[in-house]
Amino acid sequence: MDITLYRYAIPFTEPLTFHKVKVKIREGLLLKWGKRWSEIAPLPGFSRESLEEAQQETINFLEAFKKGKTLPVKLPSVQFGLDCARHQWSVLKHTPLAPYLLLQGSPSDIIWSWQEWLYDYPQRVKLKLGRYPMHHELAMVRELNRLAPKTKFILDVNQNWTREEAWTFLGHLDPSHIEYVEDPCARFEDVKHVAAHTGIGMALDEILASDEEWDFFPQLRALVLKPMLLGSLEKCRGLVDRARAHNVKIVISSSHESQLGNKILAQLATEWSPEQPPGLDTLRFLSDTILDDNNEPDVSKLKLIWRS
Ligand SMILES: [Mg+2]
Repeated sequence: MDITLYRYAIPFTEPLTFHKVKVKIREGLLLKWGKRWSEIAPLPGFSRESLEEAQQETINFLEAFKKGKTLPVKLPSVQFGLDCARHQWSVLKHTPLAPYLLLQGSPSDIIWSWQEWLYDYPQRVKLKLGRYPMHHELAMVRELNRLAPKTKFILDVNQNWTREEAWTFLGHLDPSHIEYVEDPCARFEDVKHVAAHTGIGMALDEILASDEEWDFFPQLRALVLKPMLLGSLEKCRGLVDRARAHNVKIVISSSHESQLGNKILAQLATEWSPEQPPGLDTLRFLSDTILDDNNEPDVSKLKLIWRS
């Protein structure tokens, strides 16, 4: 079995901030396992492991594997990458659904882009909140609602609000424009309280990859799975099954992976949640592609790290 580990670095089109960590260049690992490719790319600010730690654990695993031993793997990104490399992918029965649009940026930029929108407004849009002063963001959401009254908004707060801030903000909105609110607060108890207090649907994302306990509650509409943060395919699959049993949607979502990782996530989304558009609208933040014209990784753009 030929195994090769590469590293990539793709500048973002503009610096992005992940939980207060400013990132200019997306870096990650690509693993070629026989003919299959997979990606190991912890997201700064979100993943508990750094890329250096992930690279070291991957090399340790590969060195041992070469000698016929299988080392246990602890880091989620490495678990996910190794699992995908060895996964028996089923042939897609249908084409993946198009990802839903993600609006990110300053309130004035977002309003401007929405005013200049040339097409019919989409049915559903995701909007990042909790980054600018609350009254600016509130005015922005109201303006977007006014311009596109039929569009449903997924509000992703990335755990930036307190319980009281969430009550205040959501209390000023018409709930009929909101599909659900993703991670309004950091603590699960606060999310549950906000849901009970407002009656608005909620989604959990970052809590799923933390050690915090969580459970299903009546207003829970969706689990957002970021496999790169969660780890093994078995763990992800377990969450998919639990969500199905509770009639809660599954949204497969990216952690700003490269074009290759994004493709793998699109495939997982069609396997696990074919009726749900995935949260994969992140490639446009990358200034270059690591794929060639045949949609295969272009090794001339990668740095060789390890070879079997
Ligand atoms: Mg989220």
